[in-house]
Amino acid sequence: MSEKLIPCPFCGSTDTDVLRSTDGVKFWGRCETCGAVGGVGSTDEEAVNNWNRRGTTKQDDRALLPCPKCGYPHLLIHHWEPRHEDEAESYQVECPECGYVALPANTEADAIEYWNRGDDNDSSEL
Ligand SMILES: [Zn+2]
Ligand SMILES: [Zn+2]
Repeated sequence: MSEKLIPCPFCGSTDTDVLRSTDGVKFWGRCETCGAVGGVGSTDEEAVNNWNRRGTTKQDDRALLPCPKCGYPHLLIHHWEPRHEDEAESYQVECPECGYVALPANTEADAIEYWNRGDDNDSSEL
């Protein structure tokens, strides 16, 4: 576990660490619990920054309903690139106002659907 990494955006685990490629030129954050990975950087710090920025993020109001928790309409879609060809891409919608997130998905369309249906980690545990 690293002190510098925020908890996993997918599963909330704090069992996260920065890994280094065998040639020592690539670094990335990884969640040891669910296997989520952050963006690859060329330094340890960059990997931490990429992880803490939670991949790439764009704002998208078109297809998304306002936040079900606070009604905020300007939502973020996070996008994580796969590190290997056999890893799936991940998308997740977040309300920047209150921090509410829907379930992550492998496609942007699914992530939007989860958001609009109100699927989140709380409801999946019931
Ligand atoms: Zn995780
Ligand atoms: Zn909200």
